[in-house]
Amino acid sequence: MSDCLFCKIIKGEIPSSKVYEDDMCYAFNDISPQAPTHFLVIPKEHISSAAEITAENSVYVSHIFEVIAKLAAEKGMTDGFRVVNNCGESAGQTVHHIHFHVMSGRAFTWPAG
Ligand code: AMP
Ligand code: ZN
Repeated sequence: MSDCLFCKIIKGEIPSSKVYEDDMCYAFNDISPQAPTHFLVIPKEHISSAAEITAENSVYVSHIFEVIAKLAAEKGMTDGFRVVNNCGESAGQTVHHIHFHVMSGRAFTWPAG
């Protein structure tokens, strides 16, 4: 998607602070961190939101969760971490390219914050 912020980040047209990359996904630090560690993991295929996950593209989602587990281990996130996906306007989704927030380094409350 030519007008998608995260597609532009994947292509390197907009700078980002890279955490990890492979042929299926890209991870980078959130520009407005909500925890001491806060990065986003996105598929290299444009999927608008969690509502658009299908049997054809869900391999990206499973792969992303494998990568999250690997990065959490590598980064020593042993106290726990939170993975968040906001889907749709009322859930707070502001960028319409599916992304998983990975946050750690502080205690989190539930269901918010
Ligand atoms: P959401 O509100 O769930 O759609 O999350 C979008 C996230 O993208 C927010 O946490 C923003 O801080 C983050 N964000 C927006 N623009 C950038 C950018 N250029 N680089 C890194 N993170 C960004
Ligand atoms: Zn996109």
